[in-house]
Amino acid sequence: MSRLPRLVRLFLPYWRWMGLGVLVSLVVVLANMALLGVAGWFLAAMAAAGAVGGIMNYLLPAAAIRAFAILRTGGRYLERLVTHEATLRFLSGLRVWFYEHVEPLAPAGLQGYQSGDLLSRIGADIDSLNNLYLRTLVPMAVAVISALLAFAFLARYSLALAAINLAFLALVGAALPMTAHRLGALPGARLVEASSRLRLAVVDGVQGMGELAAFGAARAHLEQTDLLSHALTADQEQMSRIAGSVSAASGVMTNLSVWLATLLGVVLVHQRQVATVDLPMLILVVMGSFEGVALLPQAYQYLGHTLAAARRIFTVIDTPPPVADPPDASPQPRDSGLEFRGVGLRYTPSGPWALADIDLDLPHGRRVAIIGPSGAGKSSLISLLVRFREYETGDIRLGGYSLRSFRGEDMRRMISVVPQRPHLFNATVRENLLLASPGADQVRIEAAAKAAQIHEDLAALPEGYDSFVGEAGLKLSGGQVRRLAIARALLKDAPVLILDEPTEGLDAATERALMESLLAATSNRTLLLITHRLSALERMDEVAVMEGGRIIERGSHADLMNGNTRYRQMQAVLAPSP
Ligand code: ADP
Repeated sequence: MSRLPRLVRLFLPYWRWMGLGVLVSLVVVLANMALLGVAGWFLAAMAAAGAVGGIMNYLLPAAAIRAFAILRTGGRYLERLVTHEATLRFLSGLRVWFYEHVEPLAPAGLQGYQSGDLLSRIGADIDSLNNLYLRTLVPMAVAVISALLAFAFLARYSLALAAINLAFLALVGAALPMTAHRLGALPGARLVEASSRLRLAVVDGVQGMGELAAFGAARAHLEQTDLLSHALTADQEQMSRIAGSVSAASGVMTNLSVWLATLLGVVLVHQRQVATVDLPMLILVVMGSFEGVALLPQAYQYLGHTLAAARRIFTVIDTPPPVADPPDASPQPRDSGLEFRGVGLRYTPSGPWALADIDLDLPHGRRVAIIGPSGAGKSSLISLLVRFREYETGDIRLGGYSLRSFRGEDMRRMISVVPQRPHLFNATVRENLLLASPGADQVRIEAAAKAAQIHEDLAALPEGYDSFVGEAGLKLSGGQVRRLAIARALLKDAPVLILDEPTEGLDAATERALMESLLAATSNRTLLLITHRLSALERMDEVAVMEGGRIIERGSHADLMNGNTRYRQMQAVLAPSP
């Protein structure tokens, strides 16, 4: 579907407010035209009456002038109020619409976009879409209707006058702006791209400030950002030049039109086709009619800008979700047992198999460790379970039903995951924990924190559980962030718990203590432990050794240690000395 109708469709739910906005704007323009016209006629009629010593009823026109003046001023206020109300309603709806479309894509479908780029699509691009109503649709509707009304009014006096006026209105309102639009399309599109690239560079620079400083690359990054900023300014200058020239040209055209109307009017008065007292009114109505098209050049300029922003928004929206939810509600699984049979995954259709022929059983309450070097496919396995990615071959079953029959959200409700790099929000410790279980009381919170061996660290913070963790948990150490994330996962009462490298960065003693308390705290849950460290594995029901996307060995710690296994070799090399 082309972009403009698709955009306009987004406005449909707000058509009442938007229509009202157009109506009020139209009333303002018409009131202004009427004010000028009646005032012109009134002065001329009074002068004419005075010249012949006659009398006329001046109360009615005087009241009309006052009424139109009030209507114009009050209308302007109302116009701002209504159009902004419409805009804000549309804007908030649009953000929710965008979020609802983007959410199912996260995280796998969004890996092609950088965070600054997405941020700019959510912020600036959506604001630009908003311009379509306020700065394009309203002025256009007002222009067309008011031009036709002016034509109808003038045609009652002289068709030629009405036609000349309409021609000039079309020139100022359509031909000039279209030229400007053509001139502005390229810099307009470039402007959106450039401002998005600049935002990206700035966000990237701020987030990576530490690395840039450490590698002495700050100056180069600064120069790069500076270049982008100059490119943006150049485009903005070009857009301003176009806007300036068009505005000057339309001023000249307007005055030319008024001048022509005066000449023609004088001729018509001479030919007695128009009464003398009507002449000032007609000239002033011609002048006033240009107010209706005054905003069109700007409207066309915004159109280029808005359509470029719409393209960027629709590109994100149209990204196919990596995992499609089934149309029906999720089935009720018998239990929380998981089975993998011949599961295979590729990240690209013709790429290498990241997982191949995976067979694995995780009946309820079982503890299984998956070990293997980096790149073996351990994290890929998790992304299948939480439905961030779709498997290509084989099947995974939960309580007897294929994972494909579950909605992603329902799957994720059953599973609590601590990823390798857990994210903490820039909020208090408590708020970060409550994310997993909003109703949890202090007793449950502390129990989870104790099981994750983080309670003492948290209690020692200046404000205990109410201390802020900083952006992404910067005020805590890497090990603390991980243990806080474990506490959060424990708080979520899901039957399956997946821990990806939970003890990374901990010394051997803390690692052992954490594993002990975790095993005790999760005795009634299924536990999938992913690690390349080899401690506490004798406490697991099964250990699966992965390499190159396959499970190459399975068995208990004791079984695997008995044979001439890869696991035994790994133990000999990697296991921490007791
Ligand atoms: P592990 O968790 O054991 O370190 P991963 O599951 O992260 O291993 O990776 C398994 C394989 O899949 C690796 O070869 C890796 O390069 C590839 N891979 C992982 N994530 C992606 C991704 N988002 N896009 C493409 N390939 C990926």
